[in-house]
Amino acid sequence: MTQEEVRRLSVEFEARTPEALLSWALKEFGSKSVLASSFGPEDVVLIDMAAKIDPKVRIVTLDTGRLPEATYAVMDAVRFKYSVPIEVFFPEAAAVEALTRAKGFYSFKESVENRKECCRIRKVEPLKRALAGCDAWVTGMRRSQSVTRTTTGKVEIDGSQGGIVKVNPLADWDEARVWDYIKKNQVPYNRLFDQGYRSIGCDPCTRAVKEGEDERAGRWWWENPEHKECGLHNRPGSGQPK
Ligand code: SF4
Repeated sequence: MTQEEVRRLSVEFEARTPEALLSWALKEFGSKSVLASSFGPEDVVLIDMAAKIDPKVRIVTLDTGRLPEATYAVMDAVRFKYSVPIEVFFPEAAAVEALTRAKGFYSFKESVENRKECCRIRKVEPLKRALAGCDAWVTGMRRSQSVTRTTTGKVEIDGSQGGIVKVNPLADWDEARVWDYIKKNQVPYNRLFDQGYRSIGCDPCTRAVKEGEDERAGRWWWENPEHKECGLHNRPGSGQPK
């Protein structure tokens, strides 16, 4: 798919519903597409929509080995409710062993470089395997989540994933709209969201946020906001205005 086609589609779907974009993506790319989920609120909304459109949708997730217990609980709740298989990808054991032997279990607190190294081993590399052979992936990214996501398009070319298509059906939704959908459709969600969490990743790198803080303020809270991406959603090469 060319940059021009992707730009045209992104503009076209800006005015349409997430379900319309999901339907298009699942039909266009079929088994060569995956819905990548960390089982956050946006992801469970997309799973609910996708399961209603095509129950054969492929759902992939990354088990970093450091997830909160509540994340496993929502994964199983989703598996049970929608009868969908969930393809779980783990980090390479040898890489995790080497990292922890050399630097211990909390090296990510020492520097941005160390944090990115841990994310690369536990997230970025497994995602590459999860997307291998795919022509498109669907994510729950939204523009209002953080300063690093304000230019997210509905359809993009993902330069960091070999130029495959990235589909973001909820790009223009705000947090309230996501929760409204969850409540109306009785979608299972991570119970940590009832305890002040607003974005959930690995257990040691996530905390609840205070009133008035950014949605992703509880992720790597010791870092500068511009650094707060784990490498799964790099903006350069997206084909979108920066
Ligand atoms: S979020 Fe934290 S524990 Fe998880 S992969 Fe990144 S640095 Fe490592």
